[in-house]
Amino acid sequence: MKLSELEKALLKYFGFKAFRPEQDHIVAAVANGRDVLGIMPTGGGKSLCYQLPALVREGVALIVSPLISLMKDQIDVLHQRGIAATFINSSIGAAEQSARIRGMVDGEYRMVYVAPERFRSRYFQEQLALVKISFVAVDEAHCVSQWGHDFRPDYLRIGKFIRALGQPQVCAFTATATPHVRKDIVEFLDLQDPEIFVTGFARPNLSFGVFHADKRADKFARVSELISKEKKGIIYCSTRKRVDEVAERLESWDIAYVSYHAGMDENAREAAQNQFMRGEVDVAVATNAFGMGIDRSDIRFVAHFDLPGSVEAYYQEAGRAGRDGLPSVCELLFNYADRTTQDFFIDGANPPVSTVREIYAYLRSQASEDGTVLMSIDEICQGMDLRNGMQVSSSLKHLVDRQFIERYDIPGQRVRGTRITDMQRTDRDLEFDEVTIAEKRRRDEEKLESIISYAGAAGCRQVWIQRFFGEKNCQPCETCDECQRNTSTAAVALDEEKWVTLQKLLSGVARMSLRGGSEGWEPQYGKALVIQMLTGSEEKRIMKFGLQRLSTYGILRREGKVFVRELIDECLRRGYLKTTGGLRPLITLTPMGEAVMKRDETPVLHWPSSPVANINTKLLKGKPLQWDEAGHDPDTNLLQLLKQKRIEVARARNVPAYQVFTNKVLDHLASSQPITREEALAIPGIGEVKARTTLPAFLNIIAHHRATRSK
Ligand code: ADP
Ligand code: ZN
Repeated sequence: MKLSELEKALLKYFGFKAFRPEQDHIVAAVANGRDVLGIMPTGGGKSLCYQLPALVREGVALIVSPLISLMKDQIDVLHQRGIAATFINSSIGAAEQSARIRGMVDGEYRMVYVAPERFRSRYFQEQLALVKISFVAVDEAHCVSQWGHDFRPDYLRIGKFIRALGQPQVCAFTATATPHVRKDIVEFLDLQDPEIFVTGFARPNLSFGVFHADKRADKFARVSELISKEKKGIIYCSTRKRVDEVAERLESWDIAYVSYHAGMDENAREAAQNQFMRGEVDVAVATNAFGMGIDRSDIRFVAHFDLPGSVEAYYQEAGRAGRDGLPSVCELLFNYADRTTQDFFIDGANPPVSTVREIYAYLRSQASEDGTVLMSIDEICQGMDLRNGMQVSSSLKHLVDRQFIERYDIPGQRVRGTRITDMQRTDRDLEFDEVTIAEKRRRDEEKLESIISYAGAAGCRQVWIQRFFGEKNCQPCETCDECQRNTSTAAVALDEEKWVTLQKLLSGVARMSLRGGSEGWEPQYGKALVIQMLTGSEEKRIMKFGLQRLSTYGILRREGKVFVRELIDECLRRGYLKTTGGLRPLITLTPMGEAVMKRDETPVLHWPSSPVANINTKLLKGKPLQWDEAGHDPDTNLLQLLKQKRIEVARARNVPAYQVFTNKVLDHLASSQPITREEALAIPGIGEVKARTTLPAFLNIIAHHRATRSK
């Protein structure tokens, strides 16, 4: 089938003048009988990729979709376009189902949508064998994979069923694009030499960034900046407690916000969601429970205060920014230690089988003779002295799945009842699929590692994400923090002090590598551990590997983790350091890095500044700073705040106030109100050292002040 014919059909049936990028190739492949796997984000135009071929092919296309509630709408739209189509699912009666199946056998339709559970019916299968099928399209194909977020056992049946039909052409579509999911789709749907398309994941109007924060206070400062600059946005947190903590801070800054988490009652959640949707309030602080129904299009920033559990989750949540196509900011506020929350979630969602047994034994010991136990999850948790309450609910779920227990609602009570199905069964009698359970844990851990590598990666963020989803031929976005970093400052030859710092860093990496063979180095450790060693961290892992005994241990403590990370990233970009591939890359010196370390080679690089400064510079791009050139009076409220801070700092350091900053410097700060370190460095009396040691606290105050004042 020629492209021109397909284009004609596109106009005739859908009224569209052109295909979207790659859509033409997908449509052509489907129309020409190839098995296809098409991966496009939601809204990318997947349905057209099978609907159009269905119209130009002989026979009826069978479209499998789990979204029963949407089928009728889709069919209505097709009817409006004059296309003969129907659907078969549990929402229609048996007589009507048979009538539609008969119509299908009689060739009345071009397309028939079916829900996967129809394949359980022998009758349905027998009838389909009589139908002339053009091809089978499987929508939401990630449902076959346990790696996806939406595994449906019925989907596993599709492959078998398709084979029973005599292996017709199969096309699968999904928005979930990780390699594992892809592999599962090809395998379980038994796609034959499929052509795989991944397209449309770039969101050119979003500028992604990772803000490396050493302390909680850095994150708050950053949030305050984002709110004052971008105004409308969502701050995602990983726990209810954190939502409350951030909300409290917004409260103290006098910023209008709504908060949202699953622990709130339904009315409060709905009210919050509505207020935000209607634009009555522009800032939402929420857990990931927020946003399922959010289609507010003018969200200018999405900040993740905590680490999300996976790249998929991150991209989905971040993607709520800028639906209107206008420039928007997506920022991950990252601190490596944040992973402990996610580790805790992983532990909670994946209790070891031994714990599941213990919980069963405990329930059995608490049960009345007929096997019933009336205890809340908290009570079970306390009764057993468990640290992670999530493990109880996950264990109960395992036990329910295996029908070792039943859970039931008790009218008028919040606590659900539990019944042990067979009181004779002891915990030792329980059998579990331990391989699958272990596998799921490994998957969750791998997902977490993937988002951590995103945060640590050098190079365009957008490209990183597109590649993660399997897209090829990606172009740097030129707006993310990494792209900006590469264009904003010129690479410079280093002065002596900087060169020494660089040497320290490189020799630290050398000491954490093995001298390999005749040339080069072999890596032993990852970036995070190198950073911890250089900055003298007392983490368990450092002690475990004995890294505190290295002569370079703590040698860059003063420079701090954020700085060291940035310098390492820059060395990676410059080719002084290299990493192995994979999810947990190890790091070592390149021959050039070694030459720089030995001073045989002169380094040229972008010297990192503080992270706060970096990100701000990016955000201010194109918008001139509001320097107070005319020498306006300093903002007296702000000046007051700055003076208070000076007193605090002076007391803490036991020095006179003027040694912290002079009055003149404070006046200057209060009038010019710099956001970045660079800007502040322009003020006489603020040098490199003070900029590093003293300035950040004052910049925080200025940022807060700007945020509250701009409301
Ligand atoms: P998905 O299933 O990928 O979420 P849809 O198939 O629902 O996305 O398509 C999203 C929207 O894009 C629909 O309104 C659809 O009509 C429109 N669309 C798809 N392809 C084109 C095209 N080539 N030109 C214009 N609009 C298109
Ligand atoms: Zn980029």
